[in-house]
Amino acid sequence: MDFKTLDAMELTGKTALVRVDINVPFENGAVSDFTRIDAVLPTINDIVAAGGKAVLLAHFGRPKGQVVPEMSLAQVRPALEARLGKPVAFAADCIGKPAKDAVLAMEPGDVLLLENTRFHAGEEKNDPMMAAALAALGDIYVNDAFSAAHRAHASTEGIARLLPACAGRLMEAELTALEAALGNPARPVVAVVGGAKVSTKLDLLGNLIEKVDALVIGGGMANTFLAAQAHPVGKSLCEHDLAETARVILDKAEARGCRLLLPVDLVVARDFRANAPSEIVTECPEDAMILDAGPESVSQIAALFGNSRTLIWNGPLGAFEIEPFDAATNAAAREAARLTREGGLVSVAGGGDTVAALNRAGAAGDFTYISTAGGAFLEWMEGKTLPGVAALEP
Ligand code: AMP
Repeated sequence: MDFKTLDAMELTGKTALVRVDINVPFENGAVSDFTRIDAVLPTINDIVAAGGKAVLLAHFGRPKGQVVPEMSLAQVRPALEARLGKPVAFAADCIGKPAKDAVLAMEPGDVLLLENTRFHAGEEKNDPMMAAALAALGDIYVNDAFSAAHRAHASTEGIARLLPACAGRLMEAELTALEAALGNPARPVVAVVGGAKVSTKLDLLGNLIEKVDALVIGGGMANTFLAAQAHPVGKSLCEHDLAETARVILDKAEARGCRLLLPVDLVVARDFRANAPSEIVTECPEDAMILDAGPESVSQIAALFGNSRTLIWNGPLGAFEIEPFDAATNAAAREAARLTREGGLVSVAGGGDTVAALNRAGAAGDFTYISTAGGAFLEWMEGKTLPGVAALEP
C-alpha cells in the first residue's frame, strides 16, 4: 500500500482540508466519549505546529442530505476546543459562502470546523460538484477518517482526486497496522473469527482462508460449523441452513493448507443469562445451548498463538457480555496480550464487539493495534478495496 503522509506535504501557510471522524456519542447534551476526538488531535496539532490552517470536514449522524439541527456539528465544537486546548471557529455550512468566508478569516495555526457534510445530498452520492465545492476551500486534502474510508463520499473519495492528498496520523497508524497484519505479515499468521453468525462473515472467512495459516472459529458461528460436521448443538444459536456453506469453507481451508480450529469442548447452559448453571461437555445436550468454548479449546488456542508471529482478531469466542461465558474470550485475549508484551506476537484486532470484549478482558492495552473503525475494519478484513484509501494512492 502506497500513500503519502503529512511528512511529505508542504503545510506552512497552506489550508489543509482534514476529513475526520468525530461522530461522537452524546448523553444529556454533552459528548460522553472523547475517543474519536482525541484520535485526530495529532493530525490537527501537526498541521497547526507547521503553521498550516486546519479545516475540519466531518459527518455527524445520518441526516440523509437534509439540514437536521439536532445533527449540527456545532454541538461537538466545545468538546473539540476543550481537547485541543485552543479555540475552534465554526462555519454553518461546509460549502458555499459561509465556508469560504470562514476560511478567508483564518490565520496560520487556526482551526475551523465546518458543518456536517451529510447536510448535503451530494456528500453520500459522491457528487463531483460537491467534491469540487469542498476542494475549492483548500490547498491540500488530508484523510484521517479510516472509519469512513469504506464509503465513497465526496469528502472521503471525490475530494482526494482533486487536491494533493495524504493520510493523517490516525489513518497512517491504521494502515500501517493493517498492512503488518494481513498485507505483508510475519508468519505464521493466525486469525480468530468469532461472534454471532456465519452469515455476516462469509466474505471475511473466504478472504482469511486464503491469507492466514490458521483460523480459530468461535462464538455462535462455530455452532454452525459443528452442526455441519454432524455434532449436536441442542438449542444453540445456529444457522442450520448454512451447513453446506460451512462445509465448503472447511474444504477450502483444507485445500489451502489453512488449519481450522473449532471448539473441542463446550460450555453449555439451559438459560441465556448471567451465572446460569453451566457445565463443560464435548457434545451439547438436546435441551442446552453452547455459550462458550471450554478450557481444552482455550489451551489449543493458546498453543496456536504461541506458535504464531501475527494474530488478527474479530469477534468474541462466546457470549462474552454475560459471566461466566466470557471465560474463553478473556483467557485467549490475555494470552495474546502476554505474548505481544513479550515481543513474540504482532496482534491486531477490531470490528463490532471485539473492542468491547478485549477491553473487558483487560487485554486491549497490550495489543499492537486495536482498530475502532468498525465497518471499515471488517471490509478490509474481507479483502475489499476501501475507496477512501484507494483515492490516496498515487
Ligand atoms: P458479532 O457482532 O458478530 O461479532 O457477534 C457478537 C455477539 O455474538 C456478542 O453479542 C456475543 O454475545 C454473541 N455470541 C458469541 N457467542 C455466542 C454463542 N455461543 N451464543 C449466542 N451468542 C453468542
